[in-house]
Amino acid sequence: MATETPAPVLSVVIPVYNEEESLQPLVQRLRAACEPLGLPYEVLFVDDGSQDSTFATLEALHRQDGRLRVLRFRKNYGQTAAMAAGFRHARGQVIVSMDGDLQNDPADIPRLLAKLEEGYDVVCGWRKARQDKLLSRRVPSLIANWLIGKVTGVPIHDNGCSLKAYRAEVIKRVQLYAELHRFIPAMSTLTGARIAELVVRHHPRRFGRSKYGISRTWRVFLDLFVVKMLTAWAARPRLWFATLAVVPLLGSLGSLVGWGLSRFASIVFPAVAFLALALVGHLLVMGLLAELVLATGDFRPEAVLVVRGHTPPQP
Ligand code: UDP
Ligand code: MG
Repeated sequence: MATETPAPVLSVVIPVYNEEESLQPLVQRLRAACEPLGLPYEVLFVDDGSQDSTFATLEALHRQDGRLRVLRFRKNYGQTAAMAAGFRHARGQVIVSMDGDLQNDPADIPRLLAKLEEGYDVVCGWRKARQDKLLSRRVPSLIANWLIGKVTGVPIHDNGCSLKAYRAEVIKRVQLYAELHRFIPAMSTLTGARIAELVVRHHPRRFGRSKYGISRTWRVFLDLFVVKMLTAWAARPRLWFATLAVVPLLGSLGSLVGWGLSRFASIVFPAVAFLALALVGHLLVMGLLAELVLATGDFRPEAVLVVRGHTPPQP
C-alpha cells in the first residue's frame, strides 16, 4: 500500500528514459539529501516511454514509498515534454529538476534551495567540472552557452544542466515544448524571474547510455532563434514580422529601380517587384494574425504575476 503523505513543499522532477539501473541508487541518494531538510517532499519520476524495466522499477519504488510518484508517457516524447509534465503535476512550492542517470547529485539539492531562499526564482546548476567527453560534449556546450548568452542576453554558464531549482509559480508559467528545456533560464525571464547560478557536482555516467550525440548542437542552434523570438518579440509580433518584411520591400524597390534602368524593357523586374510586394503584404498580415493569437492566448508576459510566498490564481 502506498503510504499517505502530507502536501509536499518540495517537488523533485526527474525525467527518465531507459535508466533502470540508476533508479535504486538514485532514490537512496535522494532520501539521504532530502530527509535532513525536514520538509515534506515528493519525487516525481516521469518515465518517457522507456522500453526497459524502468517503469516496473518505479512502480515498485512507489509501492514502498508514496512520496515517490510516477508519471508515464505511452511513447518517447523527449526530455522537455517529460520535464514539462513533471512541472505540471508537481505540488510543491519549490521544484527541483534533475537527470535520472546519477550524473547530477541529489546532495546539491539543499544548496540549491538555500540559494533560492536568498531571493531568487530560478537557481541554475553549473557543472564546472563536467564529466563528459571533451570534443563531442564539452566544447560544443561551451560555444552554445556563449552564443545563448549573447543572443538571449541571459549569460548562464551551463544552460544544459538539468539540476535547477525554481519557485513553482515561476516554472509553471514557462511554456516548454520541443527541446526548450535547455533554454529555461532565458524563457523564465519572460516571467520576470530573478536568476542565480551555483556550481554543482557532476559525475560520469555509470549505467546505460547517453540519449544524445553531437547532432543536438544543430538543434540547439535552431531552437535559439525560436527562444530569441519568444523572449524578445513575443510582446510585439507585428514588429518582428514588419522587420522581416523590410527585406522583400527592399527587393521590390530594387526591382522597380532595375526596371527603370532597363528602360522598362524587361518583364522580369516588374514581376519580381510584384511578388516581393505580395510577400510584404503576407508578412504584415501574418504579424496581425500573431497579434490576434497573442490577444486571445495566454502567452502575454504581463499576464505573469510573480508574488513571493503566494501563488497567484491561474487565469
Ligand atoms: N531523457 C528523457 N527522454 C529522452 C532523453 C533523455 O527523459 O528522450 C532523460 C534521461 O533518462 C536522463 C536525462 O533525460 O535522465 C538526461 O539525458 P542524458 O543523460 O542522456 O543526457 P546527457 O547527460 O548525456 O546530456
Ligand atoms: Mg546524463
